[in-house]
Amino acid sequence: MNIRRIQQQIRAVAVSEGAGVSVHRTIGTSALKNLDPFLMLDHFGSDDPDEYIAGFPEHPHRGFVTLTYMLDGHMEHRDSMGNRGDLRAGGAQWMKAASGVIHSEMPQQTNGLMRGFQLWINLPAAEKMSDPAYQEFAPEAIPEVAGEAARVRVLAGEYAGRRGAIDDPHSDLHYLDVSLQANACFSWPLKLAYSAFMYVYEGGAKIEGSDLPQHSLTVLGKGDSVQLDAGPAGARFILVAGRPIGEAVVQYGPFVMNTRDEIEQAMRDYRDGSLVRAKAAMHAVV
Ligand code: MN
Repeated sequence: MNIRRIQQQIRAVAVSEGAGVSVHRTIGTSALKNLDPFLMLDHFGSDDPDEYIAGFPEHPHRGFVTLTYMLDGHMEHRDSMGNRGDLRAGGAQWMKAASGVIHSEMPQQTNGLMRGFQLWINLPAAEKMSDPAYQEFAPEAIPEVAGEAARVRVLAGEYAGRRGAIDDPHSDLHYLDVSLQANACFSWPLKLAYSAFMYVYEGGAKIEGSDLPQHSLTVLGKGDSVQLDAGPAGARFILVAGRPIGEAVVQYGPFVMNTRDEIEQAMRDYRDGSLVRAKAAMHAVV
């Protein structure tokens, strides 16, 4: 067995996004531009509504998938496919922007809390200009494995024989939300060549005795197993893995393509109102 070691640790950088929402970014910063197939990870969370109430009004995406997971609060959204809804705490939204989506995302607090993650997952060249697609997963639709020392929500991939709710076929996405009791051990078999990271959002954990502090992202080195221990206050973290795409990444804000020409095309399309090519898509709520 080849245990995955700590390859890199990235402290979250506070970034102002949308209409002035403060997010904690790790993947997608100068310290870690991307982690193929992952393009960006934002952790948003605040008990001060002034920091996020303006939300993310209408904005475009092209060339990748956004996956939003709400921990607390909820998120009102609507998009150019005709979807509109309210993503609840514990629920997830998978949106394949592909050839183009324009949407708004407006986070709201519940009992003074609002917290979640947004992950951008790249698409291979052959999929970047395909039709958009959308799936929303209610909290009840996400399988949960509850043991004595660990509670694991399986958003995508497999854990302890349970298959996750979300299928992101181009990255073979694996995505766990793990809660560990104080000093508990955790292990998970993982494909050797997949990119993998974890982000501790409560408490702390250790890998081979090295600390993984709160609000930091740990890139895991190659290996076929993840093994870690929770700290004395327990740990809550997401653990995410996916198959690298291995293609050129050219990003300009919300457009992620393979070449500079394709980025310029996306900017022209957005300017002249032709970014959204497929307005009608199935609205699937699971
Ligand atoms: Mn967006």
